Amino acid sequence: MNDQDITAVVKKLVDAGIQLNAVYEPIGCSFCMRPADVAPYLRDRDAFFAAECGLDKADYVEWKRFMEGGRLCGAIGPHGQCKRPVKESAGLSPQEFTRRKAEGTLLCSVHLKAHEPTRR
Ligand SMILES: [Zn+2]
Repeated sequence: MNDQDITAVVKKLVDAGIQLNAVYEPIGCSFCMRPADVAPYLRDRDAFFAAECGLDKADYVEWKRFMEGGRLCGAIGPHGQCKRPVKESAGLSPQEFTRRKAEGTLLCSVHLKAHEPTRR
């Protein structure tokens, strides 16, 4: 089946009242798919969601790992990586993750203070 066939079949299902939902891993919010989304989604789920977020696949995958891995602070100390979670990272969106990564602020409250000594 090519992409056009898949889209046609899915459109038929949707027209018959079957709803399409995909689950965003790992944070569990639901995403309603259009018929044309199904073929790219089946081909590469991460690439599909990355494109929906307007991000590169690598950034999206990194965000997923970050959320699944307990959202750990990026600071490396004498005993390895900091074990505290990144400040205000619960429910962090992929876009926000990518922005904060570029900024270097994916840090816990302690390391964030050290990172920005001028901020009160
Ligand atoms: Zn830290």
